[in-house]
Amino acid sequence: DSPVGRKPEWIRVKAPVSEGYKETRQIVKSKGLVTVCEEAACPNIGECWEKKHATMMILGDTCTRACAFCNVKTGLPGALDAEEPDKVGRATAEMGLNHVVITSVDRDDLADGGADHFAKVIEAIRHHAPGTTIEILTPDFLRKPSAALDRVIDAGPDVFNHNLETVPRLYLSIRPGARYYHSLRLLERVKERAPRQFTKSGLMVGLGETREEVMQVMDDMRSAGIDFLTIGQYLQPTRKHAPVDRFVPPEEFATYESIARAKGFLMVSASPLTRSSYHADADFAQLKAA
Ligand code: SF4
Ligand code: SF4
Repeated sequence: DSPVGRKPEWIRVKAPVSEGYKETRQIVKSKGLVTVCEEAACPNIGECWEKKHATMMILGDTCTRACAFCNVKTGLPGALDAEEPDKVGRATAEMGLNHVVITSVDRDDLADGGADHFAKVIEAIRHHAPGTTIEILTPDFLRKPSAALDRVIDAGPDVFNHNLETVPRLYLSIRPGARYYHSLRLLERVKERAPRQFTKSGLMVGLGETREEVMQVMDDMRSAGIDFLTIGQYLQPTRKHAPVDRFVPPEEFATYESIARAKGFLMVSASPLTRSSYHADADFAQLKAA
């Protein structure tokens, strides 16, 4: 299902028809993998999958949270798939990825929030695809023992991403169940424990935030030592989700991008179709080469 509502002409996506897209879909299906590209009804799937860039979603396909912007289904998830780390590791090797992005649903039902499983996935990718750099996009591990987060950090991903998603004022309506300062602190903690790991976060705009609020979030992120930033337009996945407040024009994204660079982020991607995993492989390769 495609996002609802009339969209401005600058939001144009590539239809998922290419051979590369079909090959990626074949690998995803045959390995029984879940991708956020499909679950979140991402508009970039045609372009990303053509380049074999898929973001795998682990810990199942059912989330214990119900964020107002998210298309992933909510409910009581089933048991963890003990084979999943191996499947993800093998799929990464088979796709020949230079850089892989792994995300997950939130598992408030598990004592460690799924941290141990997350770490096992990282370890399995290192085993099967030692040359691949690993970017993870994690839940907030809210109300979990601090050892849970440490387990994930110590597994040694190259990029540790956790999205703040929106400005603090909108948390209650957009990201209920999460806490802005907790999420910020989580990223700060990653940097304290593993200073060489890159940290990354992202925002959606078009939800009713002001420009000043976005600036404040950028400053908070820099204070927490966050290295990379993504900013993209929120699109309403279905009529049940939060409505779009406005479509932010491309020039405003360009302004956000130059301000963010001036504030010291090492990598910034801001455009209507930017998602946290959009072009993550190319951006990371560029950074390593610099
Ligand atoms: Fe998948 Fe990310 Fe690309 Fe969307 S932007 S299709 S979630 S890899
Ligand atoms: Fe979606 Fe993540 Fe919120 Fe779950 S925690 S509803 S997967 S954004």
